Amino acid sequence: MRKAGRVVAEMLEATSSAARPGVTTAQLDRVARDVLERRSARSNFLGYHGFPAVICTSPNNVIVHGIPGEYVLRDGDIISLDCGAIVEGYHGDAAVTVAVGDIPPLTEKLLRVTEESLHAGIGQLVAGNRLHDVGYAVQTVAEGAGFSVVRGYVGHGIGTQMHEEPAVPNYWPGTPGPKLRTGMVFAVEPMVNIGAAGTALLDDGWTVVTADGSLSAHFEHTIAVTDDGPEILTVPG
Ligand code: MG
Ligand code: MG
Repeated sequence: MRKAGRVVAEMLEATSSAARPGVTTAQLDRVARDVLERRSARSNFLGYHGFPAVICTSPNNVIVHGIPGEYVLRDGDIISLDCGAIVEGYHGDAAVTVAVGDIPPLTEKLLRVTEESLHAGIGQLVAGNRLHDVGYAVQTVAEGAGFSVVRGYVGHGIGTQMHEEPAVPNYWPGTPGPKLRTGMVFAVEPMVNIGAAGTALLDDGWTVVTADGSLSAHFEHTIAVTDDGPEILTVPG
């Protein structure tokens, strides 16, 4: 899973660098495909319930699962780049939200706080803790900054499948959840909105947007629970 995570990190780096004004989201997908080919890795996104690309590209009010296509990035956009790879049968899954050109201070704060909320959640992935400690930590950071946490889409276990049980909510769901043990691996992925938490699904059956049209940010890592604490696997080698 470290090997898959390194490929995903390279996809994130390559697509983030390429996300400049005038570039289409289809071009970002091409950049990510090139990384997969170069590393002889397979895509876990392509063909997943018919998904047509190797990454999800989710600009501005799109929360997650945006399909790469003809959308042209503009100065002032933000865009979530969600990347995945399979190496030797094991999956990696991670996302970042980046600014395209200059963005206003409140939007910068949204990106910063969402990434901070991810790392607060990761910090709870310690053997002996309960899984829902993760969501409690994410929610505390995000709502403490005045933003809202998406409820309808959550993180997940990950291993020989991209999406495994259990779900990893980004909020306190009212129960502590399973006890964490060394060797468990999760994808933690807070989705944080400037406005309200409500979501809507576009007619393409994939694109999830904020119900109120407000901006949304999304950060994700694949993390293993180890004897030495949480180990982020989706990092460069
Ligand atoms: Mg993902
Ligand atoms: Mg995921």
